[in-house]
Amino acid sequence: MADRTRTRATVLHADADSFFAAVEQRDKPSLRGRPVLVGGTGPRGVVSTASYEARLTGARSAMPMSRARRLTPAAAVLYPRFEAYSAYSRAIMAELRTLSPLVEQLSIDEAFVDLQEGPFADDPAAAAAAVRARIRSLTGLAVSVGIGRTKLVAKLASDAAKPDGLLLVEPPDEDAFLLPLPVRAVPGIGPATAAALERLDARTVADLRRQPLDVLTMTVGESSGANLYRLARGIDPRPVSPGAERKSVGAERTFAADIFGRDAISTAIDAVTDEALRRLTAHGGGARTVVAKVRFADFTTLTRSVTLPQPSAEPAELRAAAHQAALAAGLTDSVRLLGVSFHNLSAHAQLTLPWDDDEVQAEPLVLPPEDPTQARPLTEENARPGLDIEHATLGRGWVVHVRGRAATVRFESVDTPPARSQVLDLDVDPLLLVPPLVALEPS
Ligand SMILES: [Mg+2]
Repeated sequence: MADRTRTRATVLHADADSFFAAVEQRDKPSLRGRPVLVGGTGPRGVVSTASYEARLTGARSAMPMSRARRLTPAAAVLYPRFEAYSAYSRAIMAELRTLSPLVEQLSIDEAFVDLQEGPFADDPAAAAAAVRARIRSLTGLAVSVGIGRTKLVAKLASDAAKPDGLLLVEPPDEDAFLLPLPVRAVPGIGPATAAALERLDARTVADLRRQPLDVLTMTVGESSGANLYRLARGIDPRPVSPGAERKSVGAERTFAADIFGRDAISTAIDAVTDEALRRLTAHGGGARTVVAKVRFADFTTLTRSVTLPQPSAEPAELRAAAHQAALAAGLTDSVRLLGVSFHNLSAHAQLTLPWDDDEVQAEPLVLPPEDPTQARPLTEENARPGLDIEHATLGRGWVVHVRGRAATVRFESVDTPPARSQVLDLDVDPLLLVPPLVALEPS
């Protein structure tokens, strides 16, 4: 399959727009049209998704939440509800599978679909328009779609189609589409590679195409250089592989000079963990096991792992586990390579952290496991903005915040009008934290 050159635009890439934030706006009518930030809500939290309204102010995913809050003071800042996102994800993926059995899910809200062998190869744009409409009707969510001859073009086309768009790039139009794009747009070109290419004055794909192969391999290394050389020419024979579900994500770094000493190594673990966390965020879920890989100056390599009581997507908790795993490898000698990877990936990461991330740093692994399917009384300690609650007579709603026994909540859900916030005394009006209720019906 991989060596067969495809001649028609039959690779489809689908990607939900601002997925987590869009789910929150759907389930919380008072937030529709308002800026929403979803992510870690503690002092060191990171933005998972910013709604389009929040992006207008410059807020972005992977940005520290504190900075995003300053840019968007009016934003609703919400804790992720992975159970809800997973339910919407399953609905989207099921619709994509009606197009072809060859669906390669890349993350919670992103997939490639191979239309080559199916009934839609002759008119992929019509099939894509129909599936976008069905997903919209079923979930209320916008999924942008790109179609091209390769995975590269399909992915770049869906990026270009956002928000809420569809773009088919026919093979004869590939160069006109690819060449003006900034190199940063190309999947796999991160900030470091982009900076290296900048030094070659290669800012667009057209600039990149002008670089000789040997210059690229000298600049970014043998395999990345060869890869960039091919991508710049639109050569991307990767097949859509339905079995390729990710088992782990991670990052590693080889140091130009061996590093030594607790502080230097600790700083390096943080940097590698940052990169691994970025990839985990892109994957769109959480992880239960954190593995540190350490190669010493004498080339002996050790891996050590830490397994959490339950999956987590909270950066502070995963970072603490990465440090703990690296320390378990013994860091008394010079280190030439450090790696951090996340395993036992779950899109259902349950977030049961103490409110203050600083406490997690001190005591990383003493979180009591909680069953998220079990309703439990809302308290100041377990309250997180955005979580679902239920009142015996007032019905379902969500937590705005809790101070002492005073709970600010909004009683609204997907099919109610927007609700005003109201303050309840938990001693008079007890509230239960409940799992999300996801209603998926064609509208
Ligand atoms: Mg997306």
